[in-house]
Amino acid sequence: KVVCVTGASGFIASWIVKFLLQRGYTVRATVRYPSNLKKVDHLVKLEGAKERLQLFKADLLEEGSFDSVVEGCHGVFHTASPVRFVVNDPQAELLDPAVKGTLNVLKSCAKSPSVKRVVLTSSISAVAFNRRPKTPQVVVDETWFSDPDVCRELELWYTLSKTLAEDAAWKFVNENSIDMISINPTMVAGPLLQPEINESVEPILNLINGKPFPNKSFGWVDVKDVANAHILAYEIASASGRYCLVERVIHYSELATILRGLYPTLQIPDKCEVDEPYIPTYQISTEKAKKDLGIEFTPLEVSLRETVESFREKKIVN
Ligand code: NDP
Repeated sequence: KVVCVTGASGFIASWIVKFLLQRGYTVRATVRYPSNLKKVDHLVKLEGAKERLQLFKADLLEEGSFDSVVEGCHGVFHTASPVRFVVNDPQAELLDPAVKGTLNVLKSCAKSPSVKRVVLTSSISAVAFNRRPKTPQVVVDETWFSDPDVCRELELWYTLSKTLAEDAAWKFVNENSIDMISINPTMVAGPLLQPEINESVEPILNLINGKPFPNKSFGWVDVKDVANAHILAYEIASASGRYCLVERVIHYSELATILRGLYPTLQIPDKCEVDEPYIPTYQISTEKAKKDLGIEFTPLEVSLRETVESFREKKIVN
């Protein structure tokens, strides 16, 4: 079968492409800069790539950019979206590419009768940020939706971009009878296939470089589990709706404690950036992902070790 992966050079997408090739699919991979070796070299070297990987140039902000790629595909994995937590111009840098880009890809899918299912890489950002309190007893699940007003008030622009993009996507697919599933991962850790560091593993690099940690509690999940969940959501006919993915929600202080246990000789900080009570953790339900997709989550300790080992292999750290 022929499938398309948008934003194929990214951290999560590279693993999706690798697993799809391993499973015998023909993969049409979209990238913004096909001539930039840093973006494509790791993809063309994947097992099966010579025979079954085709690279296409496409940009989220170019109307019709995905038409010819999507045409003839059975499945579309839409992962491309800017991941940046600090921006100057949220509209141009995050909101437009996320929302207009998602609609752009979905419009191409609507034009192509070959497309039977779309898997959208959304985020827990589109789930958990609303006015409902989050305490250790609270369980966030797929019925939650983030509130754009809360994102705007707190200036959580990336969170807003993912919330608006997923909301626009559901509206569009419902109006156009497209079968879509959204994958809503928490912060993703694990080994990098791409040569350069991405945003979600940067906090781990900061910790092993000895920087004081932020006062935040986040969920974490392994990149290989996230990639697998995308493929299973596409392959399992009965899968539907949204899937939250998390191994556990922890405060950065606990993440530092795990890293200290794994790497006793490194100077992992035990100091928070601010002198305040720690933000509490909460729970995120994995029932649906386990039941429908059969996902078993890799222990966070393993993901963290593999993240740091991959930093070393790629000479991001010594
Ligand atoms: P990366 O930054 O590694 O990948 C993002 C991808 O989006 C890149 O391939 C990038 O292309 C592409 N992209 C950005 N802007 C454009 C554009 N204008 N046109 C075309 N492509 C564009 O991040 P991740 O792999 O972490 O993220 C992938 C997806 O997963 C995103 O949708 C993200 O929101 C979501 N996600 C990520 C989580 C995480 O913790 N990592 C958690 C939850 C969801 P280029 O390489 O050319 O810049």
